[in-house]
Amino acid sequence: MGTTLVAEALENFAPAEVLSTVLDAYAGRRACLTCSFQAEDMIALDLLRRHLPAIPVLFLETGYHFSQTYEYRDRVAKEWSLNLVNVMPQNTVNQQESEFGILYQTDPARCCQLRKVDPLLQVLEPFDIWFTGLRREQSPTRKNLQKIEEHRLPTGKTILKVSLLADWTWGQVWEYTAQHKLSYLPQYDQGYLSIGCEPCTAIPDDPANPRSGRWGGKKLECGIHTFSQGGH
Ligand code: SF4
Repeated sequence: MGTTLVAEALENFAPAEVLSTVLDAYAGRRACLTCSFQAEDMIALDLLRRHLPAIPVLFLETGYHFSQTYEYRDRVAKEWSLNLVNVMPQNTVNQQESEFGILYQTDPARCCQLRKVDPLLQVLEPFDIWFTGLRREQSPTRKNLQKIEEHRLPTGKTILKVSLLADWTWGQVWEYTAQHKLSYLPQYDQGYLSIGCEPCTAIPDDPANPRSGRWGGKKLECGIHTFSQGGH
């Protein structure tokens, strides 16, 4: 896949322009969006569904999400007629807890590997383009994120990872959300800034570092955005 295709030039494009350029350049390729239904994902989804209304929306169903997240996911899926794909781990929560105990307390990296990374690696395999709602500002681990990156999966396959909002600020996210009258997860109104699995998500002490509320500040990534190797 010849990505060097304008990847640098696209850095200065607005999300909608990046999207239409990628879709033109990779017409006919299989695309998906990973979506945890946070505000950024809703914007990426709002942009994508205008071009690809049936795009697979991959939700990593760890079994540990907030009940509000499940309710919101189902409401949006219905209202927007989404092609929602609940990506399931090999073991149920009960099976995992019976076998290994409460991994999110004792070994969260392993818990994320089993419930997020491994299932994602499998489900990404048939796709060529992977859209995300990631932003550089979200975390120090994301500060070098490019809008267009090539990522090599463990099988050796390379896919294009496209982060339409990579350079957006938190303010821009909420400006778009208001302008386009998008709904949002109710936990934001309680003070949460980054929302994942319930046991590993707290209201951050430092609003300037939204992901400090994840995993008690002990880690910043679940691994789904660090598993693959850059293809260039
Ligand atoms: S975020 Fe927490 S509960 Fe969710 S998969 Fe990772 S360690 Fe497990």
